[in-house]
Amino acid sequence: MPARTGAQYIQRLRERPPNLYMSGKKVKDPTEQPGLQGGINTMARLYDLQHDPKVGKEMTYQSPTTGDQVGLSFLTPRTHEDLDLRHRMMHNWARITCGMMGRTPDFLNVSLMSMAAAGDYFGENRPEFKKNIQDYYEMVREQDLVLTHTLVNMQRSRSGAATALDDSLDVALSVVKETDEGIVVSGARVLATLPIADEIAVYPARSHRLPTGAPGRTSFAFAIPCDTPGLKFQCREAFDLQRSSFDHPLGSRFEEMDALAFFDNVLVPWERVFLYGDPDMCNSMSLRTHQYLHSGHQVVTKNVVKCEFVLGLANLMVKTLGLDDAPHVHGMMAEIIENLEITKALLRAAEVDAELDEWGVMCPGDMQLMVARQMFIRMYPRMGEILHLLGSSSLMALPTEDDFGGELADDISRYLETDYMSARDRVKLFRLAWDTCCSAFGSRQILYERFFQGDRNRNVVLMNTRYDKEPMSQWVQDFLERE
Ligand SMILES: Cc1cc2nc3c(=O)[nH]c(=O)nc-3n(C[C@H](O)[C@H](O)[C@H](O)COP(=O)(O)OP(=O)(O)OC[C@H]3O[C@@H](n4cnc5c(N)ncnc54)[C@H](O)[C@@H]3O)c2cc1C
Repeated sequence: MPARTGAQYIQRLRERPPNLYMSGKKVKDPTEQPGLQGGINTMARLYDLQHDPKVGKEMTYQSPTTGDQVGLSFLTPRTHEDLDLRHRMMHNWARITCGMMGRTPDFLNVSLMSMAAAGDYFGENRPEFKKNIQDYYEMVREQDLVLTHTLVNMQRSRSGAATALDDSLDVALSVVKETDEGIVVSGARVLATLPIADEIAVYPARSHRLPTGAPGRTSFAFAIPCDTPGLKFQCREAFDLQRSSFDHPLGSRFEEMDALAFFDNVLVPWERVFLYGDPDMCNSMSLRTHQYLHSGHQVVTKNVVKCEFVLGLANLMVKTLGLDDAPHVHGMMAEIIENLEITKALLRAAEVDAELDEWGVMCPGDMQLMVARQMFIRMYPRMGEILHLLGSSSLMALPTEDDFGGELADDISRYLETDYMSARDRVKLFRLAWDTCCSAFGSRQILYERFFQGDRNRNVVLMNTRYDKEPMSQWVQDFLERE
């Protein structure tokens, strides 16, 4: 089947709704659910872009099995040119969401591609797992399905001593039974962003390693449909408050939603199991398959777009309030420019230094992407702070769209005008700034960038242990020994 349209994505969500729960009730039809509709409509726009007469060609490629045009994020990159094509495709999607939907489907499509390409790795665990992961990738690619994922067990106690027991016993997701049909899992996982999806992938996080001696029943990778019996998604409250795009320009469009995932005796058919019973293979999965390099490529491409968005927004705020002359404003604008240019440079370096891995896949450079991702954890909250500092009281002088037709309409128009902008345009702009850095939607963006890719403290350990520092130490040692 060729790449889907938006209508096809919506139709499938209607026919096979994920098991979502909101405000104490099961969601019957997510496409009609207040708080979810805006995000679903944006997702549909992404799928429609695959058929857009202008950019559709950049969004798809020919399927190697069916010959249909399928989503380009499924492409197995073999050359630098392939990476460039994928970059352009991911950039096009990120521009639609202003970088505010981190989980556009390319994020997981590229991960799944790399796992399938490294099928032999899964085969080392059990020979049939290679076929399982490769068949699954092909099915998702050909049906153009949307994936969500959940990797981390619930926070209960993260202390070293508690991890093995706590993660294995009561709340952590684990296998409770094996049957002829598959494994049966129970327990909870902490978060699945974008539960408005067709399938959920469950695999180990690189940041939260299974402890030494972890029981085999806590070690697995699998994927199942989001409407599987016993699987339940507890959604947080929606940050799309059902207001106009004037009032909530971002929240009304880009609510991707986050949900806890509860598994109550959920049957995972054997053909959907990719790893099982081997904690070491689970811990090494990301590194050996290079899955994190491909998702990193998507993340950093999205981050460039997000920096561009913040820069454009900050520049309009500065112009509207006539702040151009203040020296410290130049300093803050320069900081955003630095963030953008550093992120762009690291992304370019990762692409230029890309190499074929042992599976024959062209992988962007590891350290460049890791540094870009780590830096963004600090950059994005700081850019939110800069928007606060630039906007100050204008971030609160925010009549709603209704107020412009209300009793104080004349006062609003008179007093909120600036030397450079009408009251309405000024409020429209600053509502966008508020939704970027102050609203519940904006605050969640900051939390997301801090945590969605693992917390910074764990990541720096990964970076420092993986970085080959020996050549530099040897050089210094040689210098010390020089006469
Ligand atoms: C908005 C949002 C969306 C997300 N979406 C997803 C998703 O779609 N799928 C998914 O799988 N996950 C998702 N996550 C979860 C994300 O992967 C985790 O938040 C992240 O890995 C940190 O894990 P944690 O929340 O359990 O925090 P913890 O691991 O409990 O850490 C909390 C704090 O304690 C410190 N800490 C605790 N223990 C240690 C330790 N042993 N070593 C170092 N530091 C430690 C950390 O530095 C951190 O500051 C999302 C998170 C957010 C906030």
